[in-house]
Amino acid sequence: MNGAALLFATTNEGKQREIRRLLEGLPLRLLFLQDVPEVPEVEETGQTFLDNARLKAQGYAHLAPGALIAAEDSGLVVPALEGEPGVYSARYGGLTDDVSRNALLIKRMQSLYGKDRDAYYEAVVVLLSPQGEEHIFTGRVHGSIAPAPDGTGGFGYDPVFIHPDLGRTFGNASQYEKDLLSHRGKAIRAMREYLEGQLGVEG
Ligand code: IMP
Repeated sequence: MNGAALLFATTNEGKQREIRRLLEGLPLRLLFLQDVPEVPEVEETGQTFLDNARLKAQGYAHLAPGALIAAEDSGLVVPALEGEPGVYSARYGGLTDDVSRNALLIKRMQSLYGKDRDAYYEAVVVLLSPQGEEHIFTGRVHGSIAPAPDGTGGFGYDPVFIHPDLGRTFGNASQYEKDLLSHRGKAIRAMREYLEGQLGVEG
């Protein structure tokens, strides 16, 4: 595999912070969408995280010819709410900020107890080689939804997502704890291992 750069096609600052940490030290120039000109709109019309990750990877690939391209789609899934917010996590209820989306989720769950409060985060990463060959990496983390938001760490739904081993929300987790346990940590570490193999880097 050649290509000394990796364009990770996201503008989400919370994701970018985590991706930077998780790929630190990899001998690749890491670019995000703010680093390339004339970024088009890629609509996330898929029904699954994989569909949307693939749409983004393919839709942004032309922005960095010769580079590796990665895109990630992720979200929170509550089985008792038939999978809400799921692929609509970033636009749940048509709301534009995390505080309102968390409030909506808490409200939707106000009469749910015990196992019905279970939830998981899922992340799917699609990596395209400069020749367009696709590799998929996934990660999940299971937990439950808190009765009220708690903590200011992380981003998105982290203040309402309780990890069972931590016994507190990701909003109250350290960066180290979140990277170790999270869906994104798992998916990006799997991608990193693959890239280290391709690049001949000692893990
Ligand atoms: P995407 O950019 O369409 O993949 O949107 C993902 C959305 O899922 C984010 O905007 C968040 O609302 C939610 N999400 C995904 N991963 C996380 C996470 O690690 N913490 C909190 N919220 C997340």
